[in-house]
Amino acid sequence: MPELPEVETTRRGIAPYLEGREIREVIVRNRRLRVPVPEGLENALVGMRIGALERRAKYLILPVEAQPAGGEAVTAVGSDAHPEGAPGRALLWHLGMSGSLRIARLGESPKKHDHVDLVMEEGAILRYHDPRRFGFLDWLEGDTARDRRLARLGPEPLSPAFDDERLFVCSRKRRLAVKPFLMDNAVVVGVGNIYAAEALFLAGIDPRRAAGQISRERYVRLTAAIREVLAAAITQGGTTLRDFVSGTGEPGYFAQRLNVYGRDGEPCRRCGRELALVTLGQRASVFCATCQT
Ligand code: ZN
Repeated sequence: MPELPEVETTRRGIAPYLEGREIREVIVRNRRLRVPVPEGLENALVGMRIGALERRAKYLILPVEAQPAGGEAVTAVGSDAHPEGAPGRALLWHLGMSGSLRIARLGESPKKHDHVDLVMEEGAILRYHDPRRFGFLDWLEGDTARDRRLARLGPEPLSPAFDDERLFVCSRKRRLAVKPFLMDNAVVVGVGNIYAAEALFLAGIDPRRAAGQISRERYVRLTAAIREVLAAAITQGGTTLRDFVSGTGEPGYFAQRLNVYGRDGEPCRRCGRELALVTLGQRASVFCATCQT
């Protein structure tokens, strides 16, 4: 499943082909995604220009600007100033469980599960592939901060808003195990199963421990570990950027060197003990019972 680093890498990979460019054609081969592709999207997007791509949690935001004939582009979503009262607009894109976005070249035939194409001026095609169709794209109207899907999200883990106090303060009186607590988007966004498991290993914290019973000092270490694993994954993703351009297959959802995730029964890299598997919040959680307390 694409997690925050993959979505961020996707944003960086596709942005140079989209930003400041006009959409020439939109092809929807299958509307039945998790949210059906809005009717009329194809016509509404043609002639619009894409602004600076943003990411919020695992959502990609593609601002689109209408272009009045002969005039300056009308400001898109996220700005307070809407000339002539034009509503802000953007596309909100979520990759779901198995979605990916890549750049295809004009004339490159779509494959099975290639559901949506945005054909850009100069011939690049943003192509959406999603075998399980749990992803979606939808209009984002008006202020991004007030959208029901985005408004309740916690801070970005790599932003200053995710400070050393955040986890400690949010966790007081919580009996929930620390791992599902970390994966709660209201606490901090984008810490999925892989990165929660890896960060807890680095911080030496048992994933079963009640969130409310972990000290401030240990949460400071955990905060640093979360930043470290996510930043490392994004850096590593940067080496696969060429995969976003046609000819090299699907964009790489990068295999990293993981310490615990997916390694149950294998030896701990630190102490050699066999890694244990437990289910927390309905998710498999691998950890070392010696190194994590
Ligand atoms: Zn160990």
